[in-house]
Amino acid sequence: MVRDTITILGVPIDNITISEAKKMSEELISNSNKSCKIVVAPNVEFIMKAQKDKEFSDILKQASLATPDSIGVIIGAKLQKKEFKQRIPGQSYFRAIIELSNEKGYSIYLLGGEKGTPEQVCNNLKKIYPNVNIVGTHNGYFDENEEKHIIEEINVLKPNVLFVALGAPKQEKWIKNHQNELKVDIAAGQGGTFDYETGKIKRAPVWIQKIGMEWFYRLCKQPQRIKRQIVLPIYLLKVLFAKDKTKGKFN
Ligand code: UDP
Repeated sequence: MVRDTITILGVPIDNITISEAKKMSEELISNSNKSCKIVVAPNVEFIMKAQKDKEFSDILKQASLATPDSIGVIIGAKLQKKEFKQRIPGQSYFRAIIELSNEKGYSIYLLGGEKGTPEQVCNNLKKIYPNVNIVGTHNGYFDENEEKHIIEEINVLKPNVLFVALGAPKQEKWIKNHQNELKVDIAAGQGGTFDYETGKIKRAPVWIQKIGMEWFYRLCKQPQRIKRQIVLPIYLLKVLFAKDKTKGKFN
């Protein structure tokens, strides 16, 4: 599969539409043979964390699919005189795969969120997608002993898709650390998607999403995220003034 990517500060991101992301995922599922291909959704926080964290940077570079999650990524490309075809918010990718499961029967395991959250996500989705094939769920707060059982359960179920929502970079590192053990076709980090799906966190109205201000809406709803979003101006300056804008600290 030849990939068309745009690299921002060392992080390659696929230049694809949501339907192309769906198609690529189908191909990964067909060819993976339970080899746990990694799907990531880089945003500005990811790119900035990757500048300081080689382990995270390597995971992002080695991912089989990297969807452009945030408006900051779209702007970062524009500063390099490049253009992403589309922004793909994490929840949109999640729903695209859920639709695939509903249509084709792909099996899905949901790992992450607070106790009861992935189960609630599963119940809500079953009302909208009656044929969705969610085969297992577990919350994202577990100790080493429970982790062993979770991995054993996943490996008995052998789902096509494992969604992991532990927040970044924890979820990406968790997937990478267990990549060789996990018998799944693809594993995708999902951040706060399960909380959006249960309605615990509300997504911005569509018009706010359309004008690229969802990050601001989320900041108003969760002011504690200011520490995380403060990196945005630093990121823009870094992209603007980087001699080779595609190169990050670890290139
Ligand atoms: N979470 C978890 N286990 C942990 C830490 C976090 O399951 O040890 C969950 C948390 O309940 C939330 C999600 O991970 O549902 C993280 O959401 P956040 O909004 O931080 O993710 P982002 O979209 O910003 O990456």
